[in-house]
Amino acid sequence: MKVLRTPAELREVRERNRASSEKVGLVPTMGYLHEGHNSLLKAAREQADIVVMSLFVNPTQFRAGEDLSSYPRDEDRDFAIAEQAGVDLIYAPDPGDVYPSGFATEVEVTGLTEVLCGSEDGRGPGHFSGVTTIVAKLLNAVDPDFAYFGQKDAQQASVIKRMAEDLDFRTEIIVLPTVRERDGLAMSSRNAYLSPESRERATAIWAALLETERTYPEAGLDAALDAGVHHLQTAGIEPEYFEARYPGTLDPAIDDSEEAILVAVAAQVDGTRLIDNILIEPGKKGSTK
Ligand code: AMP
Repeated sequence: MKVLRTPAELREVRERNRASSEKVGLVPTMGYLHEGHNSLLKAAREQADIVVMSLFVNPTQFRAGEDLSSYPRDEDRDFAIAEQAGVDLIYAPDPGDVYPSGFATEVEVTGLTEVLCGSEDGRGPGHFSGVTTIVAKLLNAVDPDFAYFGQKDAQQASVIKRMAEDLDFRTEIIVLPTVRERDGLAMSSRNAYLSPESRERATAIWAALLETERTYPEAGLDAALDAGVHHLQTAGIEPEYFEARYPGTLDPAIDDSEEAILVAVAAQVDGTRLIDNILIEPGKKGSTK
């Protein structure tokens, strides 16, 4: 496994193997790896000849006052996990090399980025332009055949798919299911912030989504969303949002929809902001977790 620290090093390695017919898979991460990341690495290892993992806590997707400085980091441990997962190249640059002085470009997807986590009450629209700018830079530099993202960050996946299509990236964007703890809590690097009590309380998030899925077929969408919110509130959690939208456009979903519906939630649990979602397939009245 080779570690690359600068855009120039990455470019040099990619120039050398670009001519080969080997397929390249990219897994972008902010590190502090867990089984969710591992599932992406595993898929990449199975599908691609060369697996590239980026490890970069991207400062531009954090708002002032968010957890940029305290975001959990453990590079040695991440490198060991990546090696174990069969990663060929790790790209772990310094922010100063990614955004050198004079950097002035922003890649922005409109519309989809202004709702849910992108609203002013959430992380703000600037969050997603931070994400799309770094992902565009990575897709451009690595030029992968496949790039892997988690359904855990459903809005991010929709925004990146939109961007890749709009900007004619040749990369196939692959979105893989959310990996959960045994009690249903979606794995997240931020779970490390939770005290034992908060960790216990956080299980209400997935339970609330299941409650919405369960009640939807008979009660209808509005009542099912209310049931989910009620479940959260009973556990002492006030959601920042708990909404039903279509996964492609992120437009609000309506009752008796023919299409799959994404129910997405964000909530602070004792000061830690967690997100999760469920895809409800109305036809099947089941879910893709
Ligand atoms: P992060 O390091 O949190 O930026 O996540 C890197 C990638 O891993 C993103 O595409 C996430 O959606 C994905 N990811 C994070 N948590 C999970 C999870 N629990 N299951 C599946 N994918 C995940």
